[in-house]
Amino acid sequence: MIPVFNPSVGEEELKNVEDAIRTNWISSKGNYINEFEEKFAKYCGVKYGVATTNGTTALHLALASIGIAPGDEVIVPNFTIISTALAVHYLGAKPVFVDVEEETGNIDVKKIEEKITSKTKAIMPVHIYGHPCDIDEIMEIAKKYNLYVVEDAAEAHGAEYKGKKAGAFGDIGCFSFYSNKLITTGEGGMIITNDEKIYKKAQSLKDLAFGKENRFVHEDIGFNYRMTNIQAAIGVGQMKKIDLVLEKKIENAKIYNSLLKDIPGIRIPFTKNYVKNSYWMYTIRIDPSFGVSKNEMRKKLLEEGIDTRDFFFPLNEQPIFKKLGISSNEEFPISKKLSNEGIYLPFGMDLKKEEIKYVCYTIEKIMQKRL
Ligand SMILES: *Cc1c(COP(=O)(O)O)cnc(C)c1O
Repeated sequence: MIPVFNPSVGEEELKNVEDAIRTNWISSKGNYINEFEEKFAKYCGVKYGVATTNGTTALHLALASIGIAPGDEVIVPNFTIISTALAVHYLGAKPVFVDVEEETGNIDVKKIEEKITSKTKAIMPVHIYGHPCDIDEIMEIAKKYNLYVVEDAAEAHGAEYKGKKAGAFGDIGCFSFYSNKLITTGEGGMIITNDEKIYKKAQSLKDLAFGKENRFVHEDIGFNYRMTNIQAAIGVGQMKKIDLVLEKKIENAKIYNSLLKDIPGIRIPFTKNYVKNSYWMYTIRIDPSFGVSKNEMRKKLLEEGIDTRDFFFPLNEQPIFKKLGISSNEEFPISKKLSNEGIYLPFGMDLKKEEIKYVCYTIEKIMQKRL
């Protein structure tokens, strides 16, 4: 079976983990935490990093650090993982969905302003599948309405918009280091910011908001979102290879693109000319003109030993958001279309060129009804 993804963790990480364990620094107090936060923040071109337990808690911590509270509204794209909207909901605020643009699956900046009300406090764009969204336009809207921007960059480590790293534009950028992300700590996350006040608030809130004078006297509702030194030890090892990993993914994506671009009914990922796409996953869309449905295609690929995954499911159609009355009857046609047509192909770190060819020829055979 050719897997959809496999991480690349090796000797460097093992050496650091062994060091963390041998020196007995296994909690969140060890030195790898600071080192990982500093190295990742620097990589992104920002001042501060705050490590967390995962990407979802990074999003929650980010919104808590800017004071999102019950009654507030936060704008999120309708096509993303549920974490983006959950982070808003955890704070008693309301996620307000905006449909996405067809080319990239990113939030449609033309549709943001109509969703802004007097309760709107922040916009939370997602750089979906590693393609940065049109962040200049989003920053402009945020400035006009005095809103925060919290970037969900959990799929966009190393991606760039006009030469600057995704996650470095807004008040806060949020990342995940789950095993299928560009770099991993097994589970893990980080927020990055240039704002010292937000940084200090986030450091405090992620550590139960312990008191400054008397440790056990608390002024805020905090969380225990502390990453362990063992995870950070893996992260520091991963930072050494982040550029190589990114290069390899982009190279593999180019091979896929060249082999799939002429197959009728298959849409390869679109990349705008002013961004660096980090290709978190290699995504294709199966147009109705392909003649074989997405589910049928996935089944046939699996029979040939090729693992795939579905695209995200539109937030407005999530049963829990309908039940809670967060979704209205509004239609989100583009999110629905992407969700119906999209899959990820194998894109692991061990993927070989022959395997990419095999995947592409298998898709071609399915199109020709030879499978
Ligand atoms: C992976 C991901 C998250 C959540 O990260 P976890 O570490 O799995 O909690 C959040 N947002 C996006 C866009 C993601 O892809």
